[in-house]
Amino acid sequence: MRLSDAVHVLEFEGPFRGTRVTVHPVLLVDPQGPLLVDTGLPGQGDTLRRLLAQKGVELAQLRWLVLTHQDLDHIGNAPEVARGSPAEVCAHAQDAPYIEGQRTPLKLAPERLATLAPEARAFFEEWAEHPPRVRVARRLEDGQRLPVAGGVRVVYTPGHTPGHLSLYLEAHRVLIAGDALVVADGQLRGPRPEVTLDMEEAMRSVAKLAELEPEFVVCYHGGLFGPGAAARLREIASAGA
Ligand SMILES: [Zn+2]
Repeated sequence: MRLSDAVHVLEFEGPFRGTRVTVHPVLLVDPQGPLLVDTGLPGQGDTLRRLLAQKGVELAQLRWLVLTHQDLDHIGNAPEVARGSPAEVCAHAQDAPYIEGQRTPLKLAPERLATLAPEARAFFEEWAEHPPRVRVARRLEDGQRLPVAGGVRVVYTPGHTPGHLSLYLEAHRVLIAGDALVVADGQLRGPRPEVTLDMEEAMRSVAKLAELEPEFVVCYHGGLFGPGAAARLREIASAGA
């Protein structure tokens, strides 16, 4: 789905934990080179290449890769992007050690996997043995601006993971929320407790996002919501869940 010439919400569909799911990386097109936000489901680099090609972008042209956080379904094809492009890989310092492989990704930790149903556990255990790893060239901080697509503001939104980032496209009033929010059944909703490591912190992050008053929100799970996202976001923030 194309929000403007510069903002493309990708529909990345594929197998994940025993079922088929759709996730939504975002491609920002800019004369200086494209920026990709998150990389799709692990081990499916061909799908990512195909989706980029549909937008007229080759993997090798990517200039930036922003990883919103360390989870497998977001960093899945980051190693392939790093191998196949000169893209500068960016993430928050709190999640970088997990993305770089210095620490076991938090949701692949044995004590967390032990709580899952057998099929999902087997899937994640396999990935836990060889998680995707990529060097993070640039640590992004809250409030930083990237000179892409009319200006992208980095918004630090911890809770889902300690280093979760969102991006706000000021010129377009589009919020790329990663997993800080979800869209389900056509409605914008707060973070999912079962996959959120710190709900209190995640709700503080939602309040921070509401202050941006975005017209559109793109969630990695559920895709695009809007126009009129600001009012719904205020509702979620004031309900506290
Ligand atoms: Zn996710």
